[in-house]
Amino acid sequence: MFPSLMQQHPLMISSIIEFAERWYPDVEVVSRTTEGPIHRYTYKEMGHRCRQMADALGKLGVKKGDRVGTLAWNGYRHLELYYSVSGSGAVLHTVNPRLFAEQMAYVIDHAGDKVIFTDLTFIPLLENLADKLGQVEHIVVMTDREHMPDTTLQNTHCYEDLINAESGDYQWPEFDENSASSICYTSGTTGNPKGVVYSHRSTLIHAMGSSVPNGLGLSGADSILLVVPQFHVNAWGVSYAGPMNGCKLVLPGPAMDGKSIHELLDQEQCTLSLAVPTIWMMLTGYLKESGAMLPHMKRVVIGGSAVPEAMIRSFEQEYDVQVIHAWGMTETSPLGTLNFLLPHLKALDYEAQMETKLKQGKTVFGVDLRIVDDENNTLPHDGKAFGKLQARGHWVTSGYYGEEPSVGPDGWFDTGDVATIDKDGYMMITDRTKDVIKSGGEWISSIELENIAVGHPAVVEAAVIAVPHPKWDERPLLIVVTQADKKPKKEELLDFIAERVARWQLPNDVQFVDELPHGATGKLNKLKLREDFKDYVFPAT
Ligand code: ADP
Repeated sequence: MFPSLMQQHPLMISSIIEFAERWYPDVEVVSRTTEGPIHRYTYKEMGHRCRQMADALGKLGVKKGDRVGTLAWNGYRHLELYYSVSGSGAVLHTVNPRLFAEQMAYVIDHAGDKVIFTDLTFIPLLENLADKLGQVEHIVVMTDREHMPDTTLQNTHCYEDLINAESGDYQWPEFDENSASSICYTSGTTGNPKGVVYSHRSTLIHAMGSSVPNGLGLSGADSILLVVPQFHVNAWGVSYAGPMNGCKLVLPGPAMDGKSIHELLDQEQCTLSLAVPTIWMMLTGYLKESGAMLPHMKRVVIGGSAVPEAMIRSFEQEYDVQVIHAWGMTETSPLGTLNFLLPHLKALDYEAQMETKLKQGKTVFGVDLRIVDDENNTLPHDGKAFGKLQARGHWVTSGYYGEEPSVGPDGWFDTGDVATIDKDGYMMITDRTKDVIKSGGEWISSIELENIAVGHPAVVEAAVIAVPHPKWDERPLLIVVTQADKKPKKEELLDFIAERVARWQLPNDVQFVDELPHGATGKLNKLKLREDFKDYVFPAT
């Protein structure tokens, strides 16, 4: 090898906040606090406080490699911990507060959290778990002295007191960029949650890779409302990519209703926002009701589950906001694909573009994708063949914390999704491997049927599950929530679907329910649904 003359610096998370502090000192971070009021400060102040907190962590006995848990909404103190914890060499474990209590105790124990930082909201939750938090040595309440609660929790500290005790002349250490920086557990719809461990290197490359114009297209001109929780895959990596690009960050705290979200989008002149479809459903509902508009917004990133066609049309045609449909998962940091139209597709009329817009998009440099059949043969990119979707790349996991590696020597990670890839490279999720309905040797996509069902004007939400069938092994059962005053007849719904799918894909029956079960990240919990309908048998025909 011929040696290069380039300098070598390990890719450190602390370098992001150092950069923002030095080069975008006056750019604001605005937070709706748990205590109520809006808080605003600049990257300059944030950088200083991150160093103060890094020092304070040392005083609490946190060493390199120790795990530090957070139970917090999106806010400036949570953002500070992203840098003070990882920057000092410890590992940030963002706990999803929507997990069931036992699962929460499980992940805190499994990750081995030594300190837990909590918002005021979650004090009662922690009090209930107190006897299960064996190895936790300190609890830090993310508030000031004035708002410190009375609590039965032991060894509690006040966040602002810890900060105020330090000078801020801390120096960020340099260490191996492959060291762990943060842990995020998947929501565990099957079995216990599993921990994905990110590194400084993977986090920085992901932040750079997702910032590019074919990615989120971030720049210092953006004001970003980060609705996607910081406890879920590092807020899709934007907790890092935002400061890296000098973007103004707006953090909504616990208030996720349409009115509160709109208030921030408007007042902080947000140009970009990221969230799952459920949140956008609430926002567009509020916009319709109030007549409010989105004059500053340019782009909205929607992922986590498939974006309904009506949502794309509403944002683009009624509010002039470009929809970026994205796919990813905890295991891919999370960015996998984003949907941008290639020039020849952009040249089509709007109706013709829709087929591509509904797909999950093209991969960005840094992640590679393939689809394979059950024997691991690679399938063609023809938009028709569907198979198991596999990923590999700089920010794709090799397995789960405490378990055997999940990938072989070729490095392909099985995502658990079933997908097609078309000739232009657009990937489309057709199902989860465990949700697909295997009927007489053919696969029926539950997602496709759900999407069609919600297209019926009376259907609010739909789920399709496989039910055992004596002749076909499995057949689809459609379960729907309808508008209270417009419940259609079963036959009417099936006729509506029959016009849109092949006969053999038509659900065998429809069940009406008041609500469908959802998991900790707001997704349909099909495991629970299968459990609820385990005694269901199809009517004799
Ligand atoms: P969980 O903790 O539930 O695994 P993730 O955010 O990691 O949460 O979920 C990843 C899964 O969510 C993907 O494997 C895929 O099934 C689904 N998903 C994510 N984005 C999309 C999308 N745009 N369209 C359809 N499904 C999606």
